[in-house]
Amino acid sequence: MRYAFVNGYRVEPKKGLNGTCPCCNSDVIAKCGNFKVHHWAHKTRETCDPWWENESEWHRTWKSYFPSENQERVFIDEKTGERHIADVYVDKNVVIEFQSYSISAEEMDARELFYQQMIWVVNGAKRDFDRIYFHQSVYGPHTDDTYLRKIRWVGRSKLLAKWEAATKHVYMDFGTDLVWHLIEYDPDTKKGLVKAYPKQKFVEFFGGTYS
Ligand SMILES: [Zn+2]
Repeated sequence: MRYAFVNGYRVEPKKGLNGTCPCCNSDVIAKCGNFKVHHWAHKTRETCDPWWENESEWHRTWKSYFPSENQERVFIDEKTGERHIADVYVDKNVVIEFQSYSISAEEMDARELFYQQMIWVVNGAKRDFDRIYFHQSVYGPHTDDTYLRKIRWVGRSKLLAKWEAATKHVYMDFGTDLVWHLIEYDPDTKKGLVKAYPKQKFVEFFGGTYS
């Protein structure tokens, strides 16, 4: 996590600091090493959000485009007491989940059900092959909208097949200045339709600053 409570303030980790997790209230310690993104770590993870993933540079960069108060918002289901930390919650009342690691279909369903109004931003460049295959898979303008492209997936992975199953909108980041909206995809024919948005427009649409 990027934020924890220290003496009532929501702060970023600094070497030697102890804090409290905004989600589960248990103790967290600042981890400020050389190799991983600086973060707060639980002494024990058992009581906290099982959906939380270790943050990569990619993850942290995306979150950083949004105001600090929009990042890592805790959501509580009033009926069940279930708690989760959303990556970003923007003023349009939409949760944005940044997903770098692959998740199970069950977890995908569960998160969509829990947050309701949400979109996914998926790290398509986590595996180098996917990034390369994606750019080989996109072809021809579909209409006179040059951002709207057809795709015939030549990759071996199930990246698109997996995310096609999402019921919320999925935007894929292949490490360029664009995000690609996965509009439709047929896992049998491996054909689909994608639309690119400049990252800057995408981020600004949701109230962030792209830099
Ligand atoms: Zn926690």
